[in-house]
Order: sequence, then C-alpha cells, then structure tokens
Amino acid sequence: MMTSKFLKVKCNKCKNEQVIFEKPAGRVECLVCNEVLAESTGGKARIKAKVLEVVR
Ligand SMILES: [Zn+2]
Repeated sequence: MMTSKFLKVKCNKCKNEQVIFEKPAGRVECLVCNEVLAESTGGKARIKAKVLEVVR
C-alpha cells in the first residue's frame, strides 16, 4: 500500500519549521522568507531544508 508522508522541515535561512508534502506537485517555498524548501522531481521531492521528522 502506498502511503504518502509529510515531512517537517526547518528552513536553512530563517529557521522556520514547516510541514511539507513528501511528493509535491511543484516547488515548495518557505512561508516566511520564500526560500526553496523542496523541488518536485516527479516523485519524491528533492529536499533543500533540514528534515526534522516524518509526519504520518
Ligand atoms: Zn525561511
């Protein structure tokens, strides 16, 4: 069974913590400073922030 997950990440720039989808449709930006947190690759995102935990 495929289970999509969410990741709690921390922005490298402003240290904002944000929960993002593991497989985003597009680019995910920090809600505070607009730094790119993750980029879509068609499957799992390429994460550009620090992953703190996996949220199920
Ligand atoms: Zn930020």
